[in-house]
Amino acid sequence: MIIETQELPPIGTNAIALLDTERKECVVIDAPADAFEWASGLAERYGCRIVALVLTHGHWDHMLDGWKFVQQGIKTYGHAEDRILFGEPSRMANFAIPGLELKPVEIDEWVAQGHKLELLGRQLEVRHVPGHCPGNVMLYSEDEAAAFVGDAIFAGSIGRYDLPGGDFAVLEKSIREQIYSLPDATTIYPGHGPTTTVVAEKQSNPFVRP
Ligand SMILES: [Zn+2]
Repeated sequence: MIIETQELPPIGTNAIALLDTERKECVVIDAPADAFEWASGLAERYGCRIVALVLTHGHWDHMLDGWKFVQQGIKTYGHAEDRILFGEPSRMANFAIPGLELKPVEIDEWVAQGHKLELLGRQLEVRHVPGHCPGNVMLYSEDEAAAFVGDAIFAGSIGRYDLPGGDFAVLEKSIREQIYSLPDATTIYPGHGPTTTVVAEKQSNPFVRP
């Protein structure tokens, strides 16, 4: 599996593409602005078609381009605890950039803790990691030793918990139980900033100690 990441506008949110050139399929995780163009170009270069968009959570900067995927009939996934944010992203307009058009994203399949998504001929495990917002999920691939965590944890930092629906105690529990419990060598792909590893965060993350 090929993993490509790209930081995209307007506030530096990571889009991630998982590509399998044998199956000729591509799965996209999160859709900041320009994510559709970026992922389409990438998929074309690898001779793949985009088969799924997984939204780690319903914050506007992760779903700005989501409607373009929907328009192309690409299947979308999200957690029902963020249903309102996916359906009415304008509720977060006070926290977004003024004047930005925030379009709703229709979710085709609601995911939850323990679900195993069959994508790219592999199993991607869904883990629910609320605290940054109620519906933040992560995808974990044991085969690839990779965790795509949205805004739960960052290299040396953690997600904001002061936004509506945020809660530090809940976030701390999510990180300890769902992320720090992964094998040490697992690469963490956060929604913002560089990748890190489980062991690096367990050893030095100043906000949540194991
Ligand atoms: Zn967020």
